[in-house]
Amino acid sequence: MMDFIHDDFLLHTEMSRRLYHGYAAGEPILDYHSHLSAGDIAEDRRFQNLSEIWLEGDHYKWRAMRANGIAEGYCTGDASPYEKFLAWARTVPYTLRNPLFHWTHLELKRYFGIGELLDENNAKHVWDRANDLLLHSELTARGILTRFHVRALCTSDDPCDDLAQHTAIRAADTECRVYPTFRPDNALLVHLPETFNEWIHRLERASNRQVSSFSSFLEALKQRHDYFHALGARLSDHGLPHCYATPCGDAEAARIFANARTGKAASADEHQRYASVLMLFFGRLDAEKGWTKQLHLGALRAVNTRALLELGPNTGFDTIGDSGGVARLCAYLDLLDRERALPKTIVYNLNPADNYAFAAAVGNFQRDSFQDASIAGKIQFGSAWWFLDQKEGIESQLNALSNTGLLARFIGMLTDSRSFMSFPRHEYFRRVLCDLLGRDVENGELPDDEKLLGTMVRNICFENARQYLGLELAPTAETRKEPAGRT
Ligand SMILES: [Zn+2]
Repeated sequence: MMDFIHDDFLLHTEMSRRLYHGYAAGEPILDYHSHLSAGDIAEDRRFQNLSEIWLEGDHYKWRAMRANGIAEGYCTGDASPYEKFLAWARTVPYTLRNPLFHWTHLELKRYFGIGELLDENNAKHVWDRANDLLLHSELTARGILTRFHVRALCTSDDPCDDLAQHTAIRAADTECRVYPTFRPDNALLVHLPETFNEWIHRLERASNRQVSSFSSFLEALKQRHDYFHALGARLSDHGLPHCYATPCGDAEAARIFANARTGKAASADEHQRYASVLMLFFGRLDAEKGWTKQLHLGALRAVNTRALLELGPNTGFDTIGDSGGVARLCAYLDLLDRERALPKTIVYNLNPADNYAFAAAVGNFQRDSFQDASIAGKIQFGSAWWFLDQKEGIESQLNALSNTGLLARFIGMLTDSRSFMSFPRHEYFRRVLCDLLGRDVENGELPDDEKLLGTMVRNICFENARQYLGLELAPTAETRKEPAGRT
């Protein structure tokens, strides 16, 4: 019997197959948003078993296991690594039509060459075979980056991180460049003064300057932004329920900041106004340096109080909010645009109902100025994110983008993952993309022109992101051969 994951998985037409195998499959990966550990890459971590590399921190799997009646001890608790894996294997047959079913088998196939469907009966066999390869093959953190042809990868980092691991990776001169991403969500926490003040102590140490006022706070943040830039960072990221764009003067923001420093929590209204000032400040920092800003909008976090108290945040109790706020997104982009300080921006929505509204919203801010040529695709409608990162969600995002903007200028996929087992997400996306185009050709809605479509596919897989983000890549064997001046 043919393996479930076969060469033409998800590819339904002749053109889909030609586009995927001829243009998409061979492209390298530029994983511009992830939550991988730079420390794991710096030390070239060797994973001791399948549980370590596959289940640790994976809240998608925990949610499925809980829904399947598995006790918490086998998800986040202290069951042994094999017991946890076995609990997952028992759950897999119940994940039919959940994207986990596809991902699980794609990952087993691409990392370990295992083509069988995982369940309780073959769990021990899969465990032994995968562990043997993890312990004795090239499947270390860096070996995996090489295997999947990852040319650059961006982690997500707090401005207070010293980035020592990034420096160590750079010194090792790996083929895959690893860059930090500036994610200053903690700078907005004036409504939680205790956490905020602890974080400012860290910021003082990291920036080696005293934060005695609002202006010295902004200076410290700018110093960290400069430091990230010096290490090659070219992206920032913000995880927000919605954008902040409430008018507020600097003096008012300084008053709210000073109150928080003395332990007085900002009201909801004060938080909105203060966050608006900070987000404009961060926008200007990114624009000045030619960075790309990412806005992840619309998650409703930690909705289960008992789980939050017992297990902490990021354990699988976040959900899709009502909307990521279209009017506020436009207002924020508009404030920056009016002062000519709108950076390249990627907007990601979590609520699928926002697809068309967000895709249309970004189209209003593509123009740089009357005089200058704009950057192609300056404001991007980002790849399907989190609950939407599955076949239907990817197709919906591609359709909304195609119908309101330019698919050909899309910078494509990212893993957004905490696991080194997630690189086949790029393959999955590429198959969905090629299948969508191939089906359009079969319907007569796109021309039967392999070269035209293939060029677009290649660009979406890698080249658009390379040009748009401006991250420095390590020379490859091919680029080394090119004559000087043609890099
Ligand atoms: Zn993320």
